[in-house]
Amino acid sequence: MPILITGLRYTTATLNVREQVAFTEAELPEALRCLKAFPAIEEAGILTTCNRVELHLKVSNLKAGRQAVAQFFQAFKQFDVQHYKASLFAYVEEDAIRHLFSVASGLDSLIVGEGQILGQVRDAFELAQTTGTIGKTLHQLYTTALHTGKLVRTETGIASRDTSVSSAAYQLAKRLEKDAFHQHHYLVIGGGKMAELLLEKLKQDFSSPTKSHQVTIVNRSPQRLQYLNQKFGFSGQSFEGLATVLPRVDTVFVATAAPHALFYPEHFNRLQKPLRIFDISVPRNVHDSVGMLPHISLHNTDDLAGIGDFCPETEACIRQQAETLIESAYWDFRHWQQLRGTVQPTLVAVRQQAEVARQEALAQAKTTPMAGEALAEWSRLLMNKVLHAPSVALRQQGVHHLPDVQQIGVSSPHKPVALPPTPLSIVPPELLPRIAIK
Ligand code: NAP
Repeated sequence: MPILITGLRYTTATLNVREQVAFTEAELPEALRCLKAFPAIEEAGILTTCNRVELHLKVSNLKAGRQAVAQFFQAFKQFDVQHYKASLFAYVEEDAIRHLFSVASGLDSLIVGEGQILGQVRDAFELAQTTGTIGKTLHQLYTTALHTGKLVRTETGIASRDTSVSSAAYQLAKRLEKDAFHQHHYLVIGGGKMAELLLEKLKQDFSSPTKSHQVTIVNRSPQRLQYLNQKFGFSGQSFEGLATVLPRVDTVFVATAAPHALFYPEHFNRLQKPLRIFDISVPRNVHDSVGMLPHISLHNTDDLAGIGDFCPETEACIRQQAETLIESAYWDFRHWQQLRGTVQPTLVAVRQQAEVARQEALAQAKTTPMAGEALAEWSRLLMNKVLHAPSVALRQQGVHHLPDVQQIGVSSPHKPVALPPTPLSIVPPELLPRIAIK
């Protein structure tokens, strides 16, 4: 039952292709259920971020699993996998495990070390759990990935900088606008996490009373807009009032979770002065054609590659440390898988056998009420019955193959609990033949 991780990420697919398969938060539960409904898919999770759309799967066999993925993308997103073959990546088993650990650690992000990815992996895990599409394997895989991601952030220098897509866009704006940066009027469209990070940056640079009017926030819900206005002290505007603000601004950051474009050339073609737009939304909120207008410079997340990177030596060192942690987590996970493959079936069989004995004994106890010594003897016989087969098997292993008792959770083999002798005569006769050891 291999683990398969497949999808599109910024290294294999352009934003133009990635946004065709991007899932909105509202779509995800149904997408998970649809994916899990394929007989070849045993467990499923979906990670969708601005860098990637990944399906995390446990499949019954690889060929059928891959076919199911192609059918799923076609049915859910009308996305033809055959047509975009080159944009798709697929990792199986060990590569898939290492890949997810690397993703959770922020090593695979467009902005290396960005802090959001760990939360996004956690969201993918929690949603798959609540939707009921993962079982023990993906549960363990996500748990180990989250643990590894946290460890990499605390044990290496990867989290030493303030990194996010927002801060990279902000840095790019500063770089492009040079000396004019502090004279410009900024507009932030959106009021979610990304917008808030941008506003924090702007607040640091535009905190004086004379400068605070140089930032305007536009958001759909007035409550959130009011909260952001109060928090940052900038001015706010509704979407309806956008046309009055746009002629005054020089730079726009767009970051809403709208699943489609919100802005077209007609929103900007009457503007008299140059405008720079950073659309960090995925799917993009500003239509491609806006970038064709002569006075507009349009940037998207793919333009942020390399912005704010660590210097090569530092990044190499961080990667080396992180990969050591990932390797160790990989072997922990493999160990868990092996245990599950070998010990688990044995434990299940032992439990099933014990359960049969328990049910039989329970049925008898219901027909023959017992107390005192009769009850004690009945429980001893039940215990003997449960332990008989494993005891015989252990004896047959011979001394060389016996596990250490502490390894199997038995604390002291040399100090048996002193039991009172059992007067067999008081056990109800009808009980004896049924639970006697065969
Ligand atoms: P978020 O915290 O969920 O916030 C979403 C924002 O979008 C809210 O302000 C919401 O307004 C607004 N919104 C949603 N649907 C809208 C619609 N149809 N029209 C207008 N406004 C709408 O999202 P986020 O994490 O900030 O992400 C925003 C965008 O940035 C997304 O496209 C995401 O893919 C992209 N992005 C995110 C990250 C990341 O790490 N999170 C990184 C890079 C890019 P209300 O307040 O009215 O609900």
